[in-house]
Amino acid sequence: MILPVLKYGHPILRQKGARIDEITAEMRHLISDMKETMHAAKGIGLAAQQVGKALQLAVVDVRAVTDRPSTLHLSGQPAEVADFMPVILINPQVTPVAEPVAGPEGCLSFPEIYAEISRPESVEVTATNEKGKKFTFRCGGLLARAIQHEVDHLNGILFIDRMSTEIRQELKPELDELQTSTKEALKKKIKTCNPL
Ligand code: ZN
Repeated sequence: MILPVLKYGHPILRQKGARIDEITAEMRHLISDMKETMHAAKGIGLAAQQVGKALQLAVVDVRAVTDRPSTLHLSGQPAEVADFMPVILINPQVTPVAEPVAGPEGCLSFPEIYAEISRPESVEVTATNEKGKKFTFRCGGLLARAIQHEVDHLNGILFIDRMSTEIRQELKPELDELQTSTKEALKKKIKTCNPL
């Protein structure tokens, strides 16, 4: 099922995700819906917060992007990125292993807003997969950027927090407009719900 993606201004986007200790049937269902939602939205990553769940869970799939390379190392050996996608990250931990580089970034919670963001070029990642198994890998390029963006979401951090002051100032009118319209929509939703 395709889930609605929450936009900037929704308070859940600022919540830190709760740790997941058990992969229940409900959790597997959510993972499947998140993969479907990410693919339908043509996104390369989606965090649980973006579909209204403050959990340590994200999905990433960079296969749709052909002009921005990714690298992957499993157990110290180079591995095929495509074979590893989509990757499910539960309770992920990210350690930078390279210097930051700037690159363009967007976010499904900020439609039509893009900016250069500086992030470490490669990272080491430890997470649990959908089967409850812990795994570790090292990645670089777009995959490293996407994973860092999603892990930020899981901690309530948004890409606007990583923008330079100048860029954020430039985007302020669009950001303010988006935030206001999200809040207005939320208010309306509350007004029209059934009383009990
Ligand atoms: Zn995002």
